[in-house]
Parts: sequence; structure tokens; C-alpha cells
Amino acid sequence: MSRVVYPGTFDPITNGHLDVVTRALHLFDEVVLAIAADTTKKPLFSLEERKALAEASMGELAGRVQVVIFQGLLIDFVQKQGARAILRGLRAVSDFEFEFQMALMNRKLEDKIETIFLMPKDTYTYLSSTIIKEVGRLGGDISVFVPPVVEAAMRRKFAGERP
Ligand code: ADP
Repeated sequence: MSRVVYPGTFDPITNGHLDVVTRALHLFDEVVLAIAADTTKKPLFSLEERKALAEASMGELAGRVQVVIFQGLLIDFVQKQGARAILRGLRAVSDFEFEFQMALMNRKLEDKIETIFLMPKDTYTYLSSTIIKEVGRLGGDISVFVPPVVEAAMRRKFAGERP
């Protein structure tokens, strides 16, 4: 059984993330979508909310995707999961430098685990959780960018903020 770990903040999960998961399932039997508890970002959704939203967004992928929260060093988690690789999405050149640095650092920590990068469908290349939160906060239509459960959760989250 081949398994890949897809780490991230997923605040919240978007159709871009799901596109990457779908593509990874052409290469691996299982994807472990790993939500990092240790982050310098200030997430909008709690860890448990992000986990629940990711799980509810999987649809027909659900049987082959496990959503978990992890703490500590990614490479240790990947080994504990018995995974072969780390999966990351690459949208644009702007992602490259940080991803390159992280991949080489993880390789330094454990040479046997590779990082693989998948590019999303072109319509998702400009999509990020950050931009979704900006548009959602201002009441814009995000329905083509996120699963319906995420759209509803965003609407609830921002309901109290708008005049
Ligand atoms: P992180 O805080 O680790 O960057 P994110 O949840 O923002 O976590 O992203 C997780 C991974 O998914 C990253 O590799 C990121 O580049 C990728 N990703 C995010 N949005 C998209 C998208 N629209 N298309 C493809 N990959 C994406």
C-alpha cells in the first residue's frame, strides 16, 4: 500500500487542494492529509474545524484519504505513517523558493523520503486559502473555489463581522 503525506494549514481546504489530492491518488493508494498544529500562521478556523471541513469535503475520495492533525516535525510524522513521500502543490514561481528550501531541509533530515510536487488544474493556480478568506470576508462569491460545506462555514464565520 503506497501512501503519501500532504501537509499544510488547510485554513480552509479549497478546490485547489482537492485537485492536488485527486491527482496524487493516480500515483498513490492513499493520501494522508496532515493538518499542521504547529504553525506560525494565525488560522481563521480551529484545528478541529479544519479537520471536519476537510473530511466533509472529500466526497468520493473519502475512502482513500485520511485527514489527521499532526504535531512536531513533519519528517517524523511521515515515517510514523509509513509513507514514502511528502506531497506539496506548486502553483506559481512564487511558491518555488520556499518549497525548494523546505524540500531540501526535509531531505537533509531524512534522505529516504522524497518531496513530490503536483501542479493543479490551471484554473486553480491563482487560488489560495488566504485569497478565499479575503473574498469571503467581503461577501464575494467563492462557490466555484471551495466545496459547499466550506462556503457555508465561511458564511457563518463572517456573518457576525459584516454590518
Ligand atoms: P501551507 O501553510 O503549508 O502552505 P496550505 O494549506 O496553504 O499550507 O497549502 C498546503 C499545500 O497545498 C502547499 O503545498 C500549497 O502550495 C498547496 N496549495 C494551496 N493552494 C493550492 C492550489 N490552489 N493549487 C495547488 N496547490 C495548492
